[in-house]
Amino acid sequence: SVGTTCLFYYFAQRDKLPGHQLPHDPEKKTLVILGSGWGATSVLKTLETDDYNVIVISPKNYFLFTPLLPSVAVGTLNPRSIIQPTRYVTRHKKRQVAVIEASATEVDPIAKTVKFEDTSEIQGLVSNTTISYDYLVFAVGAEVQTFNIPGVREHACFMKELEDAEKMQRHFLDCLESAAFPGQSQEEINRLLHMVVVGGGPTGIEVSGEIHDFLEEDLRSWYPELANSVHITLVEALPSVLPMFSKQLIEYTESTFKEQNIDILTKTMVKEIKEKSVVLQKPDKTIVEIPCGLVIWAAGNKLRKVTQDLMGKLPQYQTNRRGITVDDHLRMVGTDGSIFAVGDCAATSYAATAQVASQQGSYLARILVQIAKKDALEAQLHALESAPVTEEREAEKHNIEKQLKKVENLRPFKYSHQGSLAYIGSDKAIADFPFFNGNLATGGVATYLFWRSAYISTLFSLRNRTLVATDWIKVKLFGRDVSR
Ligand code: NAD
Repeated sequence: SVGTTCLFYYFAQRDKLPGHQLPHDPEKKTLVILGSGWGATSVLKTLETDDYNVIVISPKNYFLFTPLLPSVAVGTLNPRSIIQPTRYVTRHKKRQVAVIEASATEVDPIAKTVKFEDTSEIQGLVSNTTISYDYLVFAVGAEVQTFNIPGVREHACFMKELEDAEKMQRHFLDCLESAAFPGQSQEEINRLLHMVVVGGGPTGIEVSGEIHDFLEEDLRSWYPELANSVHITLVEALPSVLPMFSKQLIEYTESTFKEQNIDILTKTMVKEIKEKSVVLQKPDKTIVEIPCGLVIWAAGNKLRKVTQDLMGKLPQYQTNRRGITVDDHLRMVGTDGSIFAVGDCAATSYAATAQVASQQGSYLARILVQIAKKDALEAQLHALESAPVTEEREAEKHNIEKQLKKVENLRPFKYSHQGSLAYIGSDKAIADFPFFNGNLATGGVATYLFWRSAYISTLFSLRNRTLVATDWIKVKLFGRDVSR
């Protein structure tokens, strides 16, 4: 009958609710995932969404493949090639996942709620709402650390989000075109074409290497009269760049930069950034002001406000200034086990890298399956306990308790470091591998080829791999696009 068909259709569609409704099966717990970066996407990719009502909340409705961001900044890659819509990850899941483009502004770990707001740039509307969760995956990442140094926010380009790389590309090309304007003095040309990169961590090194490649591979033929005036300076406050790499690789990077005419100023701190210059404190503590056209700020990250606020709600447990303290199972210490923190917002004993976040994410997806089983068994046990005692029920109870014992033991998270890799320009990369009972340090063109293939194979989808490979071929054939 029509009624039966409708009922059948309702049940078939019950879990595949349209986008504007939240998945709600009262028999399942609600799992809210905050973020769409390395940690969150890795959870989503592996997660069995059939076990939960899954809701993803992130201000970006896509995953950004951050290691290739500097390549976007110099026009080697198209911005679209390194992003993947979050809905693309969730589209084949058994049960529909709700993906909400919004910023989480507050988490209440006692009431177990998340407040989030939709800040639509186009509509100009700001609306907010609060939802409850049973489990929360807190994977909001970090934001750029400016140390409140004057002028950083106003005048520097960051290298964190897609729009940062796009902004840097526009700004860089603007410097080139202004330098090419007829009648500019040589002094002004030198200023416009002086690129200052702040921070000698992997981001600063990779950006410098990419700018150098752009100069050598394209600008020499597109702007022959200007190419010799382009000058790159890398500023680092510590005594050396790339402290996480071995001494040998640091030296290799320094000598490669020397060949590439990139100046490295160590023990030098940026004190202020002005519209047309950067103020530096030299190792002897004297202050100099150096004219420049573009400053790229790659001086590290700090916790987001929503993370600091959440930690502030559990002050006796959350005292680590680097991030959320978690236990061996990535559960936020001080909560009842309902909040998991992964990626750059969590404090661990390893560097905050994409590799760590992605391993934490896939670990979490696996233990969430186990937790769902445990919760289901506990609910069954609870139901049996409130029913009258019979021999049959006692046997059933015994059986459930046995199964519970098996799923209760969660395997702790263990990070397996696969090595650190950084591109340093001129088709060279450096890599520190933790194999062979120690560190195997390699650098050079072979490492670079490995770097490319490693990156392209870790890009999440075939779609992105195709897009990136096509961009690389296009650049080899036609050069980078210098139009703005
Ligand atoms: P970082 O924190 O590793 O490096 C920032 C550097 O900026 C520091 O060395 C710091 O001393 C310097 N600095 C800070 N303030 C300064 C100032 N005022 N003047 C001069 N120098 C200043 O930052 P990052 O490179 O963006 O990396 C962030 C995280 O991401 C790290 O954990 C890193 O390992 C990871 N990462 C890894 C890769 C890779 O493995 N290829 C690439 C990018 C980022």
